[in-house]
Amino acid sequence: MAVENVVIIGSGPAGWSAAIYAARANLNPLVFEGAITEENRVSGTLPLGQLNLTTEVENYAGFPAGNLTQFLDTAIEPSVRQIMAPHSGHGVSGPELMELMRQQAKNFGTRIVTDDIVKVDFKKRPFTLRSLEGKTYEAHAVIVATGARANYLGLPSEDAFKNRGVSACAVCDGALPRFRNKPLVVIGGGDSAVEEATYLSKFASTVYLVHRRDELRASKIMADRALSNEKIDIQWNSELNEVLGDERQGVTGVVLESTTGKDHKKLEAAGVFLAIGHTPNTKFLDGQLELNDKKYIKLTVPFRTNTSVEGVFAAGDVADDYYRQAITSAGAGCMAALDAERWLAAHE
Ligand code: NAP
Repeated sequence: MAVENVVIIGSGPAGWSAAIYAARANLNPLVFEGAITEENRVSGTLPLGQLNLTTEVENYAGFPAGNLTQFLDTAIEPSVRQIMAPHSGHGVSGPELMELMRQQAKNFGTRIVTDDIVKVDFKKRPFTLRSLEGKTYEAHAVIVATGARANYLGLPSEDAFKNRGVSACAVCDGALPRFRNKPLVVIGGGDSAVEEATYLSKFASTVYLVHRRDELRASKIMADRALSNEKIDIQWNSELNEVLGDERQGVTGVVLESTTGKDHKKLEAAGVFLAIGHTPNTKFLDGQLELNDKKYIKLTVPFRTNTSVEGVFAAGDVADDYYRQAITSAGAGCMAALDAERWLAAHE
């Protein structure tokens, strides 16, 4: 079996930026972009990461508002372009940005495998990686860029109605006919919750934004959007107690509980969208890299992407519970590729 110079696990901005740099350094990188499975769809870990589950990206430098149709038509391979959603004409969207990054990595010779890495052995060299399809790969250096996924509350009723009205991705599921012109519920008070509520307000009759405190965590510009949107009804100091529904219709409502008293309140709703933060995708590492208390990969050298194992580097949300932005992830991917390149040069 040929030993790879560098394997990159993950296909968000960190993974593709790492691939672009590694490919241009003649490292012939191999990217595992993730498997297309029902389990990954439900947990939000399909290829192209979280940006592929979002709408307009307004804060990625270099993409001001504007119509990118012609650029997308010329930059992306026709076979991929024809299955992408039509361009909105309002600047880059998450899926467009990810396809552009993937294409750029491919243009420089990156090899891409549509599979998950489910097991790693970092105890001996070369490192061994096992995929969901059962294949084994060997690598001198590895860049982990597997990102993070959306959290659920863990209520039994929430679990019972997953895919039947309960979702953690408004952008993936919000346009379904079952949610049209119906009241919907979004849980959370951060940027994601506000973004999801704003998106859903295009389809829903009312969006109840349920937040456990009396002040949004979201950035001012996003919070103002929610506060001024007539279709968004903020339920302050409230938590989701139960999702109501039945076999035939799926979700029909929610029971909210006050966080300041003992009141319970029932609301009619056809959907419940969770937007309460994220969990890093580090389980497959099975304790072989040091993690922090929130299970994010610990970077062991200041201002570098080194992990607790020499030759293994980490970039993006999987190692960042603080910034968690597309642009910081892309920057970290570049750093990881440069760190891997220098490490390989020093050890070969
Ligand atoms: P977040 O900022 O961590 O917010 C999570 C929200 O969920 C908080 O309001 C939190 O309440 C609430 N929450 C957490 N656990 C809960 C529980 N068990 N029950 C009820 N509520 C709970 O996460 P995020 O909104 O996903 O954002 C993550 C990062 O991505 C942020 O840096 C954000 O700025 C960024 N982001 C940016 C954009 C954009 O710029 N377009 C869009 C989305 C996300 P508390 O406030 O009480 O803690």
